[in-house]
Amino acid sequence: MRKTIVAGNWKMNGSRSLVNEFSTLMSGVDEATVSVVVCPPACYLAEFSSPGFALGAQTLSELDNGAHTGDISAQMLLELGCDYVIVGHSERREDHGESNELVAVKAAKAIASGLIPIICVGETLETREAGQLKSFLAAQLDALTAVLTAEELQKAVLAYEPIWAIGTGVTATPEQAQEVHAFIREHLAEFSQSLAQSLQILYGGSVKASNAKELFAQPDIDGGLIGGASLKVEEFIQVCQAAG
Ligand code: 13P
Repeated sequence: MRKTIVAGNWKMNGSRSLVNEFSTLMSGVDEATVSVVVCPPACYLAEFSSPGFALGAQTLSELDNGAHTGDISAQMLLELGCDYVIVGHSERREDHGESNELVAVKAAKAIASGLIPIICVGETLETREAGQLKSFLAAQLDALTAVLTAEELQKAVLAYEPIWAIGTGVTATPEQAQEVHAFIREHLAEFSQSLAQSLQILYGGSVKASNAKELFAQPDIDGGLIGGASLKVEEFIQVCQAAG
């Protein structure tokens, strides 16, 4: 039985007042049925004092420490109270040139440090339309299994985020998303049957209160990674409740 996770990725948005809103208003979500994670920009992590949800960062360094201006280590994130860290978001891959291999190394660093990586995979519209969806995703997954054991990957969460659905208002239909999630499990089963069955796989891409329930009801979808709708407390609570 896989527990549902709803994770909010604020990206480079938010403010101290949004932190305060979340700290005071996030209630009424049944933690027994859904794990709630909020991933604000790193500078706000320390401003959440005993939140009623888990905290996550949006990226981490694959290195421990040293002369790496602007980077943040796993240990620092742990000190800031993080349990989770998003790894390999398509915006990091695009804006910062993060390769499949680097994403795998970062995920390994997170796991070795005791953080749960939310590892993102997903294709562009071009890739999908060229009929390369499965080979593209397989390459992203194979880079992970090349570096991580099945036991290590059990400690991770995967997020399928089709790039064409991110921030566009165009959500994958529940059937489209389910089909890809099922493919991901099928592909991982070649590596480890038990991993394929137990790994939590979230869907991300224009999830909102109005479509969350149908998406989360799909058999291979274990919750969502939410961008825009995670910046509005009331709507984010509704998305969390849709997982119940
Ligand atoms: P949106 O929900 O804004 O489409 O963003 C999804 C996303 O990228 C979450 O990581």
